[in-house]
Formats: sequence, C-alpha cells, structure tokens
Amino acid sequence: SDLGKTFHLGGGRSAGGHRKVVAVDAVNLALCAGSTVALVGESGSGKSTVARLLAQLLPASAGEVRLHGEPVHPRTGRQRRRYVGEVQLLLQDPFASLNPVHTIRYQLTRVLRLHGNHAGRRGIEEQLDTLLSTVQLHPASQFLDKYPHELSGGQLQRIAIARTLAASPSVLLLDEPVSMLDVSIRLGILNLLANLKQQQDLAILYITHDIASARYFADEILVMYRGHVVERGPSESVTQHPTHPYTQLLIESAPDPARRGRDAAEVPGIGRGGGAASAAAPTGCPFARRCPFAMDVCFTQMPAVSAVDEEGHEVRCWLNSPETAGGPRH
Ligand code: SF4
Ligand code: MG
Repeated sequence: SDLGKTFHLGGGRSAGGHRKVVAVDAVNLALCAGSTVALVGESGSGKSTVARLLAQLLPASAGEVRLHGEPVHPRTGRQRRRYVGEVQLLLQDPFASLNPVHTIRYQLTRVLRLHGNHAGRRGIEEQLDTLLSTVQLHPASQFLDKYPHELSGGQLQRIAIARTLAASPSVLLLDEPVSMLDVSIRLGILNLLANLKQQQDLAILYITHDIASARYFADEILVMYRGHVVERGPSESVTQHPTHPYTQLLIESAPDPARRGRDAAEVPGIGRGGGAASAAAPTGCPFARRCPFAMDVCFTQMPAVSAVDEEGHEVRCWLNSPETAGGPRH
C-alpha cells in the first residue's frame, strides 16, 4: 500500500550534482489467491520497480508491503528466505534466472533443498518429475541432465517456471515473462501460467507492455505511466472503455489481428522512450507533455483519481474529473 521508490542519482548536470527520480509513486495493489493483476506500461514506467519492491530486492522509500495481512520486514537471512520462497519473481530472460554451469537437475534440487525440502534422493527425484510434468516438459529424464545452453528459449522459460514452483510460492511476480520468446510460443507459456494459477491457487502479478495480453490473462489491469497508476479496473472494463488518453494510445497501438493496428513507434509519444521516470514536471499530470487533450490545469495540478463506473474502474485524468469543464467523456 502507498508504495513509493525514489532513486537518488549522483553526478547529474544540475548545480548540486544530484538528481532525484521518482520511479514509483503511491502505488496500491492487492494480489489475491487464484487471480491475476496486470501492470501495464512502457519501459521506464516503474512496473519492474514495483515487482522488485514486492520481491524485497529493493527497499521501498514509502509505503508498506504486507503478506497475509502482516507487514513484511525480512531482516534475518531466514526471514528473507521464507519470504522469497513464498513470493517468487520470474524474469523476462530465462537465461538470466538459470546458472549456465549447472545442470537443470542440480539447480532445481538446490531450490527444493533451500526451501526446506528434506526428502531423500528418491523423493527428490519424484518431485523433479512432477515439477517438469507440471511445466509440460516430459519425459523429465530428457531435460534434467541438460545444461541451460542445450535448451530452447521456451523450454528454458518452462524450467525457470519450474524453479519458481520448487519454492512452493503463493505469489508469482512475472516480469514480462514472454517478451523475449518467439511469438509462436508465447501463448503456450501464458496458458501454462494461467493453468498453474488455477491449480495452485496462486496470486499473480503480470507485468507487460502489451495490453492485449493483459486483457487475455488478467482479472484486473493497472496502467502505469512515469511511476503513477493512471487507470485501473477490471480488465474487461479498462480495455473496452479505456478512459485515460495514455491507455487509449496503448490500445490503439496494440497489435490486434482483427484490425490493422498502427505500429507502436508510429503513435505519437509511444515507443520513443519518453516514459522514463523523471523529476521533470513535478506538478501536474505526468502525461501532460504527450497528451493530445492537455488543458492548462493539466500542467499545474495533478488530477485526482475519479471513478469511471461503480465496478472499481478508476482514472487519474482531469477529463473525467467532476471538477473540470471536460466532465466524463462517456
Ligand atoms: Fe491529458 Fe490532462 Fe488527462 Fe493528463 S489530466 S491525461 S494531460 S487530459
Ligand atoms: Mg522492465
């Protein structure tokens, strides 16, 4: 709740040689067993930082992380190990999450052991079998004695998923889990993750820049821009009635086979790296400089959150605010 992260960069061009970057500002989200929340935004929007805050890889500058209602402050190695076992982070690049010099068997066994599995050799062998069949790699014997470089990207991401499951997590944080894989195998991995969510009652945070996949995969969508959540709500509602101009741009530029979508790079302000969190424009709407509808008030005052409907769909935009002349646009 109210999670924030500010990075202090030394050696900047300003006179003081010090620059503050607000990467994440007051983000609230709840991950519940058996459901998926998607964080959608371009690179630099702060979505990976949110995942790293939740994974306790970074200390938060503000706000609090709670697990099962209890504030999380893992201080000792043991507390940290328990937390990291329960809240697993899956990275974009499967090569990065696996060690190139060890076999798959060694790496999965290590995670099982690290998280308190005391089964004997046979028991471990059975669990490795189960893990690999859960991620649909069979027969297990064909994969266990291989090294990461001997497997394809899709197989490796399945192994990386098996590795997270070996820790018996209740929360999975997926940071762009398919964006480095061939388009042809992405759906298979997403389907696998969706099935796991059901079977193991996992709470999932799905981070992506692709709002179309978020709609397919998530129950709730949060759209982030420059560290702020600018729109949120049930996936159906956010994608059917996108209300924030930035969400509208994301949807227009999303590849959609049913429509001749424009490439992201052609949409003004998208795909040009304009999303990096920045200390510029400390007041006003974070999207003001790229927004085709910006009004004077947008440059001076941060819009408040207002409701789009009564089902929890909310937006942070003056156009939807009852206080401005723009009023609701639906
Ligand atoms: Fe655009 Fe203003 Fe809405 Fe920001 S508040 S998205 S600048 S209209
Ligand atoms: Mg990222």
